[in-house]
Amino acid sequence: MKNNLETINQGADRRRKKAEGKNELSVSHWKGELHSHTKTDFSKPELPDDIVEHRKGSNCGSIPLEALLSYHNQEMKNEFIAITEHSRDGNTDKAISGMTDWFMGMYLSNKDWLWKNFSKGKDSLSKADLDELKKIAIEKAKEVAEYGDERIQEILDDIDTLSSSSGLKVFKGIETSLMPDGSLNTEMIKKGKFDMVNCAIHSDIDKEKFYPIINDPEKYSELILKGVENKKVNILSHIGNDLNEDVIEKLKWKEFAEKAIKNKVAIEINLKKLITFIYEEILDYDKYPKDSVDYRKILQSKLDELIPIISSDNIRNQLKPYFSQGLKIAINTDEHENKFINSTTDKNGTDFSFKPRDLRYWRAIKIVEKYFNDIFSELGIEKKNIINTYSKEELEEFFKK
Ligand SMILES: [Zn+2]
Ligand SMILES: [Zn+2]
Repeated sequence: MKNNLETINQGADRRRKKAEGKNELSVSHWKGELHSHTKTDFSKPELPDDIVEHRKGSNCGSIPLEALLSYHNQEMKNEFIAITEHSRDGNTDKAISGMTDWFMGMYLSNKDWLWKNFSKGKDSLSKADLDELKKIAIEKAKEVAEYGDERIQEILDDIDTLSSSSGLKVFKGIETSLMPDGSLNTEMIKKGKFDMVNCAIHSDIDKEKFYPIINDPEKYSELILKGVENKKVNILSHIGNDLNEDVIEKLKWKEFAEKAIKNKVAIEINLKKLITFIYEEILDYDKYPKDSVDYRKILQSKLDELIPIISSDNIRNQLKPYFSQGLKIAINTDEHENKFINSTTDKNGTDFSFKPRDLRYWRAIKIVEKYFNDIFSELGIEKKNIINTYSKEELEEFFKK
């Protein structure tokens, strides 16, 4: 066990061979992320206009594009990555309210701006002034939250600029929302602007229309099937994310699998919750001091809860026959943040640096690897069923429909 924990560069090839010798897969077989979000913001904005004018990527992201590409190339030694911004914000109400508070704070702490616009200081503002200020903040927040295709186009242009020097194959992707009527929420997909399309339900996008859908396994399944049958869709991301456990169990998993094979669509196992747990709990050295090994049991006991779809006996049993028939899965972390990337952005551009992943991180990944290998062997899942293990050429072929 211990000698598995050397640096990724030297160890990757050996780890792959060792795992293959045991008929297993190593995390080193995973050649890249197919679901990632970036965000670029001024790190020290003086006014909301700095955000309105310079924000790029998904509102829920946190890593600037160039930092993300560089990290996946240099530190993770990946072969490819798909940048898949949200076609529209997944929850605009939440984005607006969060940003409104932030922008109010910026105005209130900017003496010059207050004097210029209200001819007084913060402490002299009346209730009416504050209401007026809030209105301005809401308008600015809306400009950032309610973005359209122009924001996606900007990222595609940036990918064009950066990808040749990135050392990675960068797939121009999108995470599009499947709307209640089965449509996808950007016309850019039909126009063929992307190399690959992740399709997902984000019910907060239209709470009222989605309410009956997320409470009825029949209706939700029907919508998912519309996504699978869309000729442009390559990956069905986080099926069941917005649902209660009992609804998830009742979805038409067999039909998803059948149609996914037929339409060349991969079903995603989304590890966002798992990675967040590793970052916030397992790597919290106040909670589990350096010399403590308690985190191992905690992580093991939480995996069923943190890993969707294949952690359910019922769903596993339903999907099992389809892997030998060619069912594909994508194992993605839906990367929004990365504990090991530091970055700052100002008007001159973005600077970034990396922190090494420590021993405990690798030990946690080893525990996850074992969990997956047990399931792979139970379900007969092989390398060819997991599209993240493909070469970039094989992936290009898979994305072609
Ligand atoms: Zn999503
Ligand atoms: Zn996502």
